[in-house]
Amino acid sequence: MAEVKLKTEMDVDRSLCNYCGACVGMCPTDAIFMDDTVIEIHENKCIECGFCVVGCPTGAISAEWFHATV
Ligand code: SF4
Ligand code: SF4
Repeated sequence: MAEVKLKTEMDVDRSLCNYCGACVGMCPTDAIFMDDTVIEIHENKCIECGFCVVGCPTGAISAEWFHATV
């Protein structure tokens, strides 16, 4: 059976992320989870404010809808 890859609207580039935690602090809905080695965005909680996309100091977070609306 072929593997089904779910479409994701947001992505964190782990090679850019330095786990500074800034995005976790700026997310108004606590949609971002981070520990020492893991960072995840729970898109079911995300209200698409774009704070984390703009505020990440390394540009690690991308969102399809963000680029579509600028
Ligand atoms: S703000 Fe950017 S660099 Fe910092 S933890 Fe979030 S994704 Fe990683
Ligand atoms: S876009 Fe806004 S609500 Fe969504 S994860 Fe980023 S900071 Fe949180």
